[in-house]
Amino acid sequence: MEKKLIDESRKYLMNTYNRLPVVIRKGSGMKVWSADGREYLDFVGGIAVNCLGHCHPKVVIAVQKQAQRLLHVSNLYYIEPQIKLAKLLIDHSFADRVFFCNSGAEAIEAAIKLARKYAKDQLSHDKYEIITAFGSFHGRTLAALSATGQEKLQKGFEPLVQGFKHVPFNDINALKKAITRHTCAVMLEPIQGEGGVKMPEEGYLKEVRDLCHDHNLLLILDEVQTGIGRTGKLFAYEHFHIQPDIITLAKGLGGGVAIGAMLAREHIAQSFQPGSHASTFGGNPLACAASIATIETILEDGFILDSCSRMGQYLMNGLEGLKKDFPSIIANVKGLGLMVGMELTRPCANIVDLCLEKGILVNCTAGNVLRFTPPLIVTEKEIDHLIDILEDIFGGLV
Ligand SMILES: *Cc1c(COP(=O)(O)O)cnc(C)c1O
Repeated sequence: MEKKLIDESRKYLMNTYNRLPVVIRKGSGMKVWSADGREYLDFVGGIAVNCLGHCHPKVVIAVQKQAQRLLHVSNLYYIEPQIKLAKLLIDHSFADRVFFCNSGAEAIEAAIKLARKYAKDQLSHDKYEIITAFGSFHGRTLAALSATGQEKLQKGFEPLVQGFKHVPFNDINALKKAITRHTCAVMLEPIQGEGGVKMPEEGYLKEVRDLCHDHNLLLILDEVQTGIGRTGKLFAYEHFHIQPDIITLAKGLGGGVAIGAMLAREHIAQSFQPGSHASTFGGNPLACAASIATIETILEDGFILDSCSRMGQYLMNGLEGLKKDFPSIIANVKGLGLMVGMELTRPCANIVDLCLEKGILVNCTAGNVLRFTPPLIVTEKEIDHLIDILEDIFGGLV
């Protein structure tokens, strides 16, 4: 049965993904099941999307209830769950206002447009340039792709959107040098996700914040992957004792339902007025209901953020242990909370295949970094199992 589905997928869908040969049909907590009935332990979690695990009852019930009441209504009208979700995000962040959309790339587009509009409104008509980092990932729509600091993703889609400049991540001097009278903002992921779980060096983000302040630039943090509890705090910027001007959210925001958001401080948000920006589905009742249930569950249960930090450390300790045993294979272990990367000395695609065979879903990014972004509810026992399997696999390689 799986083979037939896979053949049809290969025939009918655009060939945009390198998929593993499994059809996932059902999920619960840390587990998913294939159409053929095989069980897998999910250390990918939809790449940081399924933050409460698969089909968390609170999210499922919220979606069911909302689906019976109202699925969609235009943003021509006021929408209850959208208002409630906005307040929830504002009450727990630096921000004063929210714009809702449906994905990470759209949240980035909204942030780029707001930064440009604000600079033109408040500073000067020729301020529009945004500096981002090499190795960054901001999404696949054209402006988000132009902001992304990876040539291999941009190739073939030129001409790109103008007004972006890239500098090495963690290099404050390069950033300083890149600022011109046209610069209006700096946009960074607090931890680079797709770029291989690249951590900011001690003090870097604080220096960036100060630099932005001194040069009157907006600091946009792309928290699409790091946000919503992933790093052990609701937002990653909280770890670094800084306050951004704008953040983007998506991935974990809906606990598995598609939703994105762009949050900003009041005086910046003022540059968006009726007609400036819009999204048909942005902030729709169904997605907002899922998101409210997700965030309320994370917050009301202080336990989940605590557990994320503890399990993240437990996972990193386990991986560090493997590094001692297999120094020729494992180069580096890094991460924060449950956003963890293990850099290998070789490509990691075949490790992903071997894990799949042994009933574990893991992800490979940047070519040689095994990435772990499991649901925040992962337990020690499940992590122990992962480490055992990896030990087995690495043992077979040396
Ligand atoms: C995934 C991701 C995006 C893009 O999100 P989509 O929902 O796929 O458009 C943007 N920024 C970061 C940091 C991401 O991890």
